[in-house]
Amino acid sequence: MRPDILNPLFAEVEALPGVGPQIAKALKRIGITLAVDMLYHLPTGVIERIRAPAASSVLLGRTVILELTPFEIRSPRSGRGPTRVFASDSDGNTVSLIYFNNPGWAKKSLPMGETRIVSGKLEAYGDEWQIIHPEVVAVGADADLPVREPVYPLTEGITNKRMRELAGHALERAPELGEWIEPSLLEREGWRKWQAALAEAHADPAAAEARRRLAYDEVFANQLALLLLRQSSRRKRGAPLAGDGQLTDALKLPYQLTNAQRRVIGEIRGDMEQSVPMLRLLQGDVGSGKTLVALEAMLIAVEAGAQAALLAPTEILARQHFDTLSKQLTSLGVHVAILTGREKGKARESVLMGLAAGSIDILVGTHAIFQEKVAYKKLGLAVIDEQHRFGVSQRLLLSQKAERPPHLLVMTATPIPRTLTLTQYGEMDVSRIDEMPPGRTPVETRVISDEKLADVIGGLGRHIDAGGQAYWVCPLVEESESSDAAAAEERSRVLRLRFGEGKVGLVHGRMKGPEKDAVMGAFASGDLAVLVATTVIEVGVDVPNSTLMVVEGAERFGLAQLHQLRGRVGRGTGKSICLLIRGDKLTETARARLALMRESNDGFRIAEEDLRLRGPGEILGTRQSGEEGFKVARAEDVEALAPIARSDAKLMLERDGGLAGPRGQAARTCLYLFERDQAIALIRSG
Ligand code: ADP
Ligand code: MG
Repeated sequence: MRPDILNPLFAEVEALPGVGPQIAKALKRIGITLAVDMLYHLPTGVIERIRAPAASSVLLGRTVILELTPFEIRSPRSGRGPTRVFASDSDGNTVSLIYFNNPGWAKKSLPMGETRIVSGKLEAYGDEWQIIHPEVVAVGADADLPVREPVYPLTEGITNKRMRELAGHALERAPELGEWIEPSLLEREGWRKWQAALAEAHADPAAAEARRRLAYDEVFANQLALLLLRQSSRRKRGAPLAGDGQLTDALKLPYQLTNAQRRVIGEIRGDMEQSVPMLRLLQGDVGSGKTLVALEAMLIAVEAGAQAALLAPTEILARQHFDTLSKQLTSLGVHVAILTGREKGKARESVLMGLAAGSIDILVGTHAIFQEKVAYKKLGLAVIDEQHRFGVSQRLLLSQKAERPPHLLVMTATPIPRTLTLTQYGEMDVSRIDEMPPGRTPVETRVISDEKLADVIGGLGRHIDAGGQAYWVCPLVEESESSDAAAAEERSRVLRLRFGEGKVGLVHGRMKGPEKDAVMGAFASGDLAVLVATTVIEVGVDVPNSTLMVVEGAERFGLAQLHQLRGRVGRGTGKSICLLIRGDKLTETARARLALMRESNDGFRIAEEDLRLRGPGEILGTRQSGEEGFKVARAEDVEALAPIARSDAKLMLERDGGLAGPRGQAARTCLYLFERDQAIALIRSG
């Protein structure tokens, strides 16, 4: 149960004074639904106002506070154009106050002949002064125009002043909580108590230490959650699966395993032999051969008489895995089946029956395969491929689902810096494939201005005339699937006109599954020369003959994404090229990021640098990984604090595994503040 002391904070925002349905709706748009969300909606900047006796040129461009007395109002004659109120300061200068809309408001808030306190950015207007859309308060109400005012991230319909008031109300509801931070750490860092730190972070966005303490709380909750998840996953007995080598030995491979693959398979084999369920993250750059590792692990499970399931993030990938596995395994007598949202009716029934009866050894599919209704006879191993969307809560569900939870192998090619591994997969042991299969030529990457698009298309023509194949990726337009699709459709039209209908295929997220499969199939078999796509092809797709990758609007992609896309080529032995087409308006950071892509083919280096390049204040994780990011902690906080929080949380659980003592109880409140409903499940099962 949630600690009672938090109840006032877990009330809906409507419970705060002055929040009606309208405001509540606006707040919801930026993710604020509970009072506690408001509490953690921290200001990110500050307005500095200068109190001045009169307007003067030294104040140009600054936000000033002036005492002004209006003497004339001029409304636009035609109903268009601004309303101007002319007012004088104590030196007799004229300052005109400008309103582009709402002339009634100007009249009401600036009555002629009455002195008001006015604030806004002072600009020159001929040889006089002006302020556009000033804030106005009565004389004596200066408190409403503080010299330093914290500025909150806003949304339409909520002013900064209102946001400040709401934060104040939320703060009033924040009780003094028991301390969860290790006393010696608190002392060493000189941190204040939780409530005081929050108050300070709201009052002054530059209060670095207050903010750091709050960031620590968040990272600590994250680490505690992951350790509880580990505890609960490992407390249940799983089935020890020791393979006899019959299937793995019989598997015919056209090549030798790399040393890294062999080592990692050994680690997995060692885990699966235990009755404590495996929790392993397999990191390996794009093209490093993770699929084969998964295959070996699944064969071990099957040899030991259990079933294995392989979860792919997309339909396309699920089909591709199913095809490869069927090809390799049918002759060994291993029965592979597929289950996605598309298997319906009889086909679906027969898969469900096969799973329950145990006649299906390996199931490949999308998220459907771990749904409630899918019952396995004996699921021994779950493999999650390219898991971007398989977050902590899904892992928690999976570990709680079965009496005997399966061994779990999560595979990712998203190169994650070490600290992020700790915060995203902190409950897992980590294996790394740090070696590429031999004979690969590194992909050559070039950054090209979009003014040269015609040349790129010309080059593409020569490439396909020589029998080559190519991907052409269109960027994310406004984060919306439909506009992405439109851009890709438009591009494919252009390329078809040039190269012929039959040569150019198109896939995007709005197409139906079978349609997508048909196109992918035609590309894989070489019937299509060019595949125009949105980022649906980002993960996993494997067509070695395709050696040219064109990415339009490259500056709009995350680096991890670009690296993934580039990983679609360079899979055969021939030379591959990746062309990153950029727009003409690039920020410094965007330039540096593209340069990094050109220089390095090393996913881990790119990830580390990317973390550094993202300026302070950019919040982690959201766009790049698809995982929920942190609210308070910034990238640099996480990097510094995660290892400390890790050992602190570990120590706490070692001393007080049930979180029953005073600090344990306090840690529960911390967990609730950040992990919300998930905390209930974690505490119950931890
Ligand atoms: P990823 O780690 O990105 O999932 P894949 O498993 O798709 O990589 O492997 C990429 C390509 O490398 C595939 O075509 C696969 O057949 C090939 N491959 C895997 N292991 C080896 C190896 N040891 N030697 C040569 N080629 C390999
Ligand atoms: Mg893969």
